[in-house]
Amino acid sequence: MTDGKEYGFDTLQIHGGAQPDPATGARQTPIYQTTAYVFRDAEHAAKLFNLEEVGYIYSRLTNPTVSALQERIALLEGGAGAVCCSSGHAAQIMALFPLMGPGCNVVASTRLYGGTVTQFSQTIKRFGWSAKFVDFDDPAAVAAAIDDNTRAVFGESVANPGGYVTDIRAIADVSDAAGIPLIIDNTSATPYLCNPIKQGATLVVHSTTKYLTGNGTVTGGCVVDSGKFDWSANDKFPSLSQPEPAYHGLVFHEALGPMAFTFHSIAVGLRDLGMTLNPQAAHYTLMGIETLSLRMARHTENAEKIAAWLERDPRVEYVTYAGLPSSPYYERAKACYPKGTGGLFTFALKGGYDACVKLVNSLELFSHVANLGDARSLIIHSASTTHRQLTPEQQEAAGAGPNVVRLSIGIEDADDLIADLDQALAAASA
Ligand SMILES: *Cc1c(COP(=O)(O)O)cnc(C)c1O
Repeated sequence: MTDGKEYGFDTLQIHGGAQPDPATGARQTPIYQTTAYVFRDAEHAAKLFNLEEVGYIYSRLTNPTVSALQERIALLEGGAGAVCCSSGHAAQIMALFPLMGPGCNVVASTRLYGGTVTQFSQTIKRFGWSAKFVDFDDPAAVAAAIDDNTRAVFGESVANPGGYVTDIRAIADVSDAAGIPLIIDNTSATPYLCNPIKQGATLVVHSTTKYLTGNGTVTGGCVVDSGKFDWSANDKFPSLSQPEPAYHGLVFHEALGPMAFTFHSIAVGLRDLGMTLNPQAAHYTLMGIETLSLRMARHTENAEKIAAWLERDPRVEYVTYAGLPSSPYYERAKACYPKGTGGLFTFALKGGYDACVKLVNSLELFSHVANLGDARSLIIHSASTTHRQLTPEQQEAAGAGPNVVRLSIGIEDADDLIADLDQALAAASA
């Protein structure tokens, strides 16, 4: 299925990018477990290497199982093309790679996945890149942070985990005015709850490890390009608008138009950085995506019930979930995320650090793990795990104070999850 524009979301999540296998008729997308592909003849090989013909050369660059997944995610996000890679963090580097150079910066939201804060504040410095962190509730501050060396603006749609949702349109207005691409990490919302491209984003990144796969089996990432950004409007994006020395002088934007970013990501990004998704992992993610809308609706319904139940409980100090009327982001969530805000939230226990430790030790259905977006319910006590190295002040600032736990609500029966939380809260406050 190549032109999916007239199909609805539930149809695209099953058929997008897939077709019966041309060689065997296999109905399910086969796992093409091969490293390389035989060229028809030397001329065919030359055309593939010149990007004059699209086809398969070597699985570090392209693989038919991975291609099906790329096309499906691009269709669900409403993008021109997509490139998959080995993890969500790899996707973030892949998104920035064609845009940045030494001395360039990305203006990023202060409310990001913890690993992204580390990647942006520390690791990208090794490439000569830097990040400026700004409060995305203040579009004027985002505008003020953009300077001559800014090459991207980066935020999360539904931010992981603190009950924050971004008004993407408001930030896109700022990045558009500055002529800078907006990158949105849509991992926690998924294209079912949010289409960042429709709200003005240039690129969308995913950790497909989470809800898109939805069963906690494989890590993966994806970058979707809207195909709408004019890379040639100025000289800020030479990898796309000028002869690319890393690809025998090809001018990607001129040669490939709306597919410039995607082709550059494959032909140069995957070729040289090598953060490739393997076909087995692509298979698990394709299987997961088939039920994405059903799962996200249930994750959201369960999270709304459980957050409301916890908020009424006297053992709980507060709950941060944008789907609760008490949230400062409730009105924004209703306007920008009308199908809800997904399955993630945090809550604080009156009993503090010790009560949190007892809670995670007493739960039976919820698993204490450093993951989210699984069909099964998960919990993490950040202060004793992922945020352990931080000072108490840094923990508070990250929304991971000693008395806070994060839930990733699964798709089990909500009543069973509530009963499990109830008995564990009783144990925690005993
Ligand atoms: C997990 C996650 C990432 C990182 O993805 P990996 O697949 O673990 O590399 C990035 N952003 C968000 C919002 C995440 O939840």
